[in-house]
Amino acid sequence: MKGVKLMRGNNFSEDSTASDGAIRVWRNARLATLKEGSARLGTVEKGAILTKDGRIVFAGSEADLPDVSNADAIDLEGRWVTPGLVDCHTHIVYGGNRAREFEMRLEGASYEEIARAGGGIVSSVNATRALSVDELVAVALPRLDTLLAEGVTTIEVKSGYGLNIPSELKMLRAARRLEEVRPVRVVTSYLGAHATPAEYKGRNGDYIDDVVLPGLRQAHAEGLVDAVDGFCEGIAFSTAEIARVFDLARSLGIPVKLHAEQLSNLGGAKLAASYGALSADHVEYLDEDGVKAMAAAGTVAVLLPGAFYAINEKQKPPVKALREAGVSIAIATDSNPGTSPLTSLLLTMNMAATLFRLTVEECIAGATREGGRALGLLSETGTLEAGKSADFAIWDVESLAELVYRIGFNPLHAHVFKGKRFNR
Ligand SMILES: [Zn+2]
Repeated sequence: MKGVKLMRGNNFSEDSTASDGAIRVWRNARLATLKEGSARLGTVEKGAILTKDGRIVFAGSEADLPDVSNADAIDLEGRWVTPGLVDCHTHIVYGGNRAREFEMRLEGASYEEIARAGGGIVSSVNATRALSVDELVAVALPRLDTLLAEGVTTIEVKSGYGLNIPSELKMLRAARRLEEVRPVRVVTSYLGAHATPAEYKGRNGDYIDDVVLPGLRQAHAEGLVDAVDGFCEGIAFSTAEIARVFDLARSLGIPVKLHAEQLSNLGGAKLAASYGALSADHVEYLDEDGVKAMAAAGTVAVLLPGAFYAINEKQKPPVKALREAGVSIAIATDSNPGTSPLTSLLLTMNMAATLFRLTVEECIAGATREGGRALGLLSETGTLEAGKSADFAIWDVESLAELVYRIGFNPLHAHVFKGKRFNR
């Protein structure tokens, strides 16, 4: 439908000059294909992409383009094209916000005082429980739109602020709904083991028995769960408790991932790797043993510099050890109300470079191909290659380094999702 405004506040609108199933050739482009094993992000000067039925038929040098006499031609005027960005770790579905708590901390309040004033995760849980699915969608949309405006075409969304069965399911239904109302692929993670709610304080085992495990069975039965996540930390769940959740995930055939080694080293990444986890996320306190286990299992390290920045963490993830061991590195916003109220993957790239010394190539790969790998979606998206979904971002930049270098500037020209272009 021409003129349907899909991106509230961002002036995005679908460019529907061609109907579904159209064959389109996007020519006069400079491509960063991110093809595995290629040097320098798989760049192709004078490149072209041929798309049909929402999928990439060809991506490479314009000189090698197959016959396209029946295709709609789009001249990209020499612009850079990358795969659509992948934000592989977010918590964007939640009620309320924690601005007051942030303000109190700056004014010198202790964690105890904040907790007594109703702050902390409890406040997000209460606010989330109070909202309906429709309301959760409505409050998540501005956050999602901000990400889409930067060329994000795939996003992971976690539950974990419901902490009872109805509310965990409600969060997952809201996450699924986002995919219906915006041009984006949504991957859900069940994060019942995020925190223990007040009514189960000091009774983690009961909470897992009564809520986390039956909630997972129910959410899975309703087709709401693409992966199972947990928070393995002194303030959350032990490795033995997480193992109980992962055992059920394995028996249901659902892949796992884990918030691990964020504030201390409990061996969570090693545990996750032993379950063949897709990713271990945060990993600031990851040790050599954990690195080795992740390398052996092919578990991706998802670095979350927004959380590192927001909590003023000093311990950096072991980037050098990850590189040397050949562990894939992805980066994500960790967008959440408490420790990373961040809705910019471009800024995340800059933070990963500035705070963790990732290279430009690692940052761009981390927000595209490696994000796709961390979601188990690499055969579908994350690179510009024949056979994959036609998801890409078109940029008004002279060089790819500009995507990482600038702070608070968005050079997106347009994003293309499943072969359809959405103008900014
Ligand atoms: Zn997280």
